[in-house]
Amino acid sequence: MNVTENVRSAIGKEVICHRESDFDDLLLSVENKVLKLFEIKNVNNYRAVFITGSGTAANEAVLSSVVGNKNILVLSNGEFGERLHAISQIHNANTYLLEFPWGKSLNLEVIDAFVKRNQIDVIAMVHHETSSGMLNPLGGIGALSKANGSVLFVDCVSSAGAETIDMEKDNIAFCSSSSSKAIGSYAGLSFVIGETVEFEKLKNLPVKTSYLNLYKFYQFSKNKLQTPNTPAIPLFFALEQALANILLEGVANRHAKIRRKAKLLRQGMLKLGLNFLLDQKEMSSVLTNVFIPININFKNFRQKLREEMIIIYDGKGCFKGRFFQVGNIGELSNADIRFFLSVQKEALLNYERHQPVQAISIIDQIPLLPLYKNDVAFV
Ligand SMILES: *Cc1c(COP(=O)(O)O)cnc(C)c1O
Repeated sequence: MNVTENVRSAIGKEVICHRESDFDDLLLSVENKVLKLFEIKNVNNYRAVFITGSGTAANEAVLSSVVGNKNILVLSNGEFGERLHAISQIHNANTYLLEFPWGKSLNLEVIDAFVKRNQIDVIAMVHHETSSGMLNPLGGIGALSKANGSVLFVDCVSSAGAETIDMEKDNIAFCSSSSSKAIGSYAGLSFVIGETVEFEKLKNLPVKTSYLNLYKFYQFSKNKLQTPNTPAIPLFFALEQALANILLEGVANRHAKIRRKAKLLRQGMLKLGLNFLLDQKEMSSVLTNVFIPININFKNFRQKLREEMIIIYDGKGCFKGRFFQVGNIGELSNADIRFFLSVQKEALLNYERHQPVQAISIIDQIPLLPLYKNDVAFV
């Protein structure tokens, strides 16, 4: 993951005292910038709180703090949806799960019927399901959540900074994200944006964790412009700079630039005869899951790319051994993408010399995924 030069130098700034007004100013600046990144119009109705810890810390803060003794439904169509479910189960006795196959879209009718049938107080979901690369649509779920009077929480860890998220239009009470994915800073800082009225409601709920108590973060931020515990100040400097970079470029311009890069990357890979898990219109603009051609040795292929300083990931979970993941977040130039494509071409040709590469072109040739055991509903 590459960060820009100015983010690299921001992390090395001289550290300030976190109980002095310098940090109050820094926290306020980062909060204002995050609200701008999310293009919040009524900024008085929202707050962002910052947690020293990676994206999972923000997710756990929300899941342990907003449900109380009520019912929560987790929607899942991949690894990160499953993780939300696992976290929720630890904190919330009444955790329901609607699980859809990995790489398949969430079925709104099924969800709507489930929410209507059960008393669902909170709905939790992932925006960009990073295991498949699928961008789950927020509009439909936001509307059904509103119609049902549920509180909607969306994990935006891998989408914020690359995709449009409209909390106001889509009725999202809480969003979580982190510094290190599409926002382009270092790992280790996460945040939760929430509606002020929803933060206020947390006051009356049982406290289930101490360090990740979301209401405490809100109170400290509101009353003192502070965090409850010692913040990782260098990471705040770096995040502030990364956000400033995006805002300088313009949020919409930034999204469009990432989309163009994804297009270049995907067109290039299609030209090489590679095939994708998803239809391009279902994909986020930061990640592509690619079928591993059946006669290549993935380990060697990966190693070949690694020798050229290119890192690709093996598929996650049930995608392991079937797909590899190509991410295009971070500071990538078009030249970097072309270089990646040429190295990939060379590596694939290598196999072709020995035996022709057979790309698997139809997704259905591979039986899609075991449907996982589901404790509540089976979709
Ligand atoms: C990466 C990721 C997380 C976990 O973030 P960490 O920074 O590893 O804690 C959570 N949700 C999604 C969608 C992610 O992509």
